[in-house]
Amino acid sequence: MSTSALKRDRAAWERLAAAARPGSRAIIAGRAVAALDGRTFDDVSPIDGQVIAQVARCGAADVDAAVRAARASFESGPWRRMEPRDRKKILKRFAAAIRADLDNLALLETRDVGKPIVNSVAVDVVNCADCIEYYGEFSDKLYDEVAPTGPDDLALIRREPLGVVGAIVPWNYPLIISCWKVGPALLTGNSVVLKPAEQSPLSGIRLAELALEAGVPPGVFNVVPGFGEEAGKALALHPDVDLIAFTGSTEVGRLMLRYAAESNLKRVALELGGKTPQVVFADADLGEAAHGIAWGIYYNSGQTCHAGSRLIVHRAVKDQLIAAIGKVAATITLGHPLEPATQMGALIDRGHMQRVLGYIDSGLAEGARVALGGRQALEETGGFYVEATVLDHARNDMKVAREEIFGPVLSVMTFAEEAEALRLANDTPYGLAAAVWTADINRAHRLSSALRGGTVWVNAFDRSTMATPFGGFKLSGSGRDRSPHAIDKYCDLKTIWTAYR
Ligand code: NAD
Repeated sequence: MSTSALKRDRAAWERLAAAARPGSRAIIAGRAVAALDGRTFDDVSPIDGQVIAQVARCGAADVDAAVRAARASFESGPWRRMEPRDRKKILKRFAAAIRADLDNLALLETRDVGKPIVNSVAVDVVNCADCIEYYGEFSDKLYDEVAPTGPDDLALIRREPLGVVGAIVPWNYPLIISCWKVGPALLTGNSVVLKPAEQSPLSGIRLAELALEAGVPPGVFNVVPGFGEEAGKALALHPDVDLIAFTGSTEVGRLMLRYAAESNLKRVALELGGKTPQVVFADADLGEAAHGIAWGIYYNSGQTCHAGSRLIVHRAVKDQLIAAIGKVAATITLGHPLEPATQMGALIDRGHMQRVLGYIDSGLAEGARVALGGRQALEETGGFYVEATVLDHARNDMKVAREEIFGPVLSVMTFAEEAEALRLANDTPYGLAAAVWTADINRAHRLSSALRGGTVWVNAFDRSTMATPFGGFKLSGSGRDRSPHAIDKYCDLKTIWTAYR
């Protein structure tokens, strides 16, 4: 990690921002291009509500050009047919280029998303480079299969790239989620068209520039910034896209399945929303639990798909735990995202901030009570900030307990018996993750197998590496990002049967 990045103060980051001229055009066939009709849209920073760039507003014609470029590069084969070890070298160069561009990428991410610069530097960019390197390393280590047959036959089972992958990603972790898709898609020889979220288009554009510089051939990695209803829809409906790898809301995930059905029955992989329960028993280490729960909901201002937004706590320790969470929250500095001491930044835009405040109001109207926070903050900045909030006396039938708030709001419910805790935890349409805090190892085993979630943490929260798969059960989606398992969705299997007679 660049030590200069961590030493820089806010004024130095602001000078860097003032001098920056980020790429804001689409990347199609290896070139930075304006939208065909010349339209642009305002890229607004949630830090202060100011416009930071005019970005190409791609529509159906631009998406079509990007898909054609991707198809042409796939068919002509410079990437698909490359020796695996050469592909590995290029992907590792790509990872190194991301690391070398750390300060710039971190600044783009923080200005677009409003997340603390320390997180962009130490988490987002680092994980993004690690992800590309991780999949690059697989290039010359993946073997295909030979099926059991009689002695006169040979049945090869080969993994083949799908062709053109459309990746549609959200704004909360633009770099990381783009790389979770681009990494395994490129490793397997596909060509990609990435559609970043309209709130956070800059780091995706920069990623494609770096890939080109590292030697990924033109046309293999294209980016079409624009709105969901325009660029996203055109990509998902395109008849020559083989897979849509989507991360975003459950509502838009449903549309992806519809677009696939209405077009070419393309494959669809969905990583969707969550409403993660944190189940805390009376025998848990409450200090550890409070730390995991506070960071689990306030990190990235709660704009994390697996944010632990429902606290289900044994009634005997509820008050003690809420007090401990309040103490941890008091140490999490809410502030200007370019200030290195800031640990909690802005919400993505004004509309989203109002939605989060609306959820707090709805919780209060339904009988919950504010135990911490509950208000807008830092209004004088012109940006979109909400305090770390705890809503006590929530019930699982309230909107704040059922719907994804996607903000720094923890809803607290109590239980008396283990069976009741499990029922409450699983009583949600989502199934992305869950956590259980207890000193009883038998109970930890019972609960971790009974909780319905793609990840279950025991006495921990949000621990993961590239080696562990990530994704959801139920309305949280299908398919997995990260780990070797993510590779499967970017490949087709072909059986080649040869008879020796
Ligand atoms: P969103 O669904 O509104 O948008 C996601 C992407 O889809 C954006 O690029 C957007 O432009 C595009 N889009 C929107 N409408 C579209 C349409 N009609 N056709 C095609 N594309 C369209 O989600 P968001 O607000 O950007 O992100 C927040 C959501 O993402 C939350 O629900 C969160 O839980 C989820 N998320 C899930 C994961 C995961 O791995 N499971 C990770 C991060 C975020």
